[in-house]
Amino acid sequence: MEKAAPYIEQALALGAADAVPIAVSDIRFDSRTLLKCLYSCPYGPRHTCPTAPGSPTMAQYREMLSRYSWGVLVHGHEKKKTLDIAFELERRAFVDGYQLAWSLSGCVSCAAGCTLKEGKPCRFVKRARPQLYSVGIDVFATVHGLGLPLHTLTDPETEQQNWYGLTLME
Ligand code: SF4
Repeated sequence: MEKAAPYIEQALALGAADAVPIAVSDIRFDSRTLLKCLYSCPYGPRHTCPTAPGSPTMAQYREMLSRYSWGVLVHGHEKKKTLDIAFELERRAFVDGYQLAWSLSGCVSCAAGCTLKEGKPCRFVKRARPQLYSVGIDVFATVHGLGLPLHTLTDPETEQQNWYGLTLME
């Protein structure tokens, strides 16, 4: 996927552990991820969550994302750095003419808590994006299909973490 090459180079230069081209047909959708958001989330609802008022449904997300043809998957070991790289690729792709480029790159995860619970708008509306799993993507199956690492951790404080961001280009 030749068009992905400059973005892969940029992601690696910004410190990604891996950055690989991905065809949208390689994305494994599974609406059961919503069950984890509804009943297992330790973070509390945010504007970017599928449980937030007005959020697209899993079926709507799948339909919209299926209209893209390719993107770049960013892998790293630090959450913020990895997700910020995916967002930066979105910004660069937009400037390059991919006007519908969009990233699944998380949000700022405000230390003060999300304004959703106060009924106020997002503090960083231009930066806030959903995570991969919150739009119905089975991240484990998707990254394993590309030969990338991801496994459950018993002690996230001491074990190496694997984080992923996805920038869909066109
Ligand atoms: S950036 Fe902050 S206010 Fe916006 S969705 Fe994330 S936690 Fe909520």
